[in-house]
Amino acid sequence: MASAKVNIAIRCRPFLQNEEQDDAVQVSAHREDKDGEADGFVSVVNPRDAREKFRFSFKSCWDQSNTQEEIFARDVRPILEQVLSGYTACIFCYGVTSSGKTHTMQGSPTEPGIIPRVVRYFLASGWGAERSGVKVAVSYMEIYRDEVYDLLVARAEAPKLPVREAGGQIFVANLSERSITAPQQFEELFTVACRSRSTGSTLLNRASSRSHAILTIRVQLTRTDGTMTEGKINLVDLAGSENNKLTGNDPSRMAESSAINRSLSVLGQVVDALNRNLSRVPYRDSKLTRILQPFLGGNSMSLLICNIAPGAKFRQDTLNTLNFANRTK
Ligand code: ADP
Ligand code: MG
Repeated sequence: MASAKVNIAIRCRPFLQNEEQDDAVQVSAHREDKDGEADGFVSVVNPRDAREKFRFSFKSCWDQSNTQEEIFARDVRPILEQVLSGYTACIFCYGVTSSGKTHTMQGSPTEPGIIPRVVRYFLASGWGAERSGVKVAVSYMEIYRDEVYDLLVARAEAPKLPVREAGGQIFVANLSERSITAPQQFEELFTVACRSRSTGSTLLNRASSRSHAILTIRVQLTRTDGTMTEGKINLVDLAGSENNKLTGNDPSRMAESSAINRSLSVLGQVVDALNRNLSRVPYRDSKLTRILQPFLGGNSMSLLICNIAPGAKFRQDTLNTLNFANRTK
């Protein structure tokens, strides 16, 4: 049975080249399995004042040395097996710009992240014991200033897509979907879509890190006994959670910041309400959570990966991210 809870994972990236190597974060992960559950600690120190130390504990902690494959194998693959049995799921990457969200979600050709691994896993899942075939289809949207855009269509006019409700179902109208038969086909499609995301950003005069990108993968598995199950997973690269100060005199930047603040804080409240079994879950308070409502709670499995950077420069951002993660665990 899938759990309604949202699992939290922390991932600290390595220092980048040309980045000052002033460590503010220590991750101690206990990789031994206790009842099938690993756990660990993240400490945040102030290199200038040893008395200032904060310590957090989480079920899943990943440090600089952990690979894309390890994270996939332990935190992601069990969710995919649920999706193949017909459940829905969500995986989010949360964190400030440059903390490693896109690296974790997309990765690079030499270090593929969650998205290419999930696609490959599903495409390969149609064969094996009692399985007779699989169909995979994707859609890809971004939410910017609470408007939804389709990333699988050319972006010249950047049409806004309406969110509709019919028969108690919430959906994004006119969102396109493509069926996928081979990893390479997906990778080509995805590369074009990512380019379209940054072109769209340029057209709208903003950085792509200021929007949420949601890749939805629908997977239909048929079995040798003729039965079929359909599951869906959303892989979400969230807008940067850096302190979006509502000051300055650029109205467009202020509307952008306030949309990000609001949607991330509503997401936190939704996760918190789900994990505390509260009866009121504020899905409707932002477009992000409204769209994802069918995939959050109920029998859906969710994983929130909180990305952090190791340097002292990010110390306050890191504390904000860990506090967000801590409130919602
Ligand atoms: P974000 O999407 O949160 O803004 P990115 O994923 O773009 O951050 O990461 C910022 C930089 O750090 C990129 O150059 C990326 O390649 C690198 N990076 C992030 N995480 C890792 C990691 N775990 N291992 C190696 N490099 C990483
Ligand atoms: Mg990014």
